[in-house]
Amino acid sequence: MSYNSRPTRRPSRPRRTYRRRKVCRFCADSSLVIEYKDSAQLRYFTTDRGKMIPRRISGTCAAHQRKLSTAIKRARVMALLPYAAMAGGRQ
Ligand SMILES: [Zn+2]
Repeated sequence: MSYNSRPTRRPSRPRRTYRRRKVCRFCADSSLVIEYKDSAQLRYFTTDRGKMIPRRISGTCAAHQRKLSTAIKRARVMALLPYAAMAGGRQ
């Protein structure tokens, strides 16, 4: 009977999650248009390493995130946005 020697996990940790309600900024502001040419705006939805920010972080809705990803990819092709980070990796 040695199975009892397992370290006990602390069962309940008080979770204080009051998440702020994130709203898709494109839904909220209909004047915002997702365009690949608007690299300044697209940059907001990428990390400084050029990766796209997931929508659970940015709060963008599925439809707009899809448009966004298309725009970002397009902007990468047009060399408006970086593909990947230069920093940290090989130069
Ligand atoms: Zn939206």
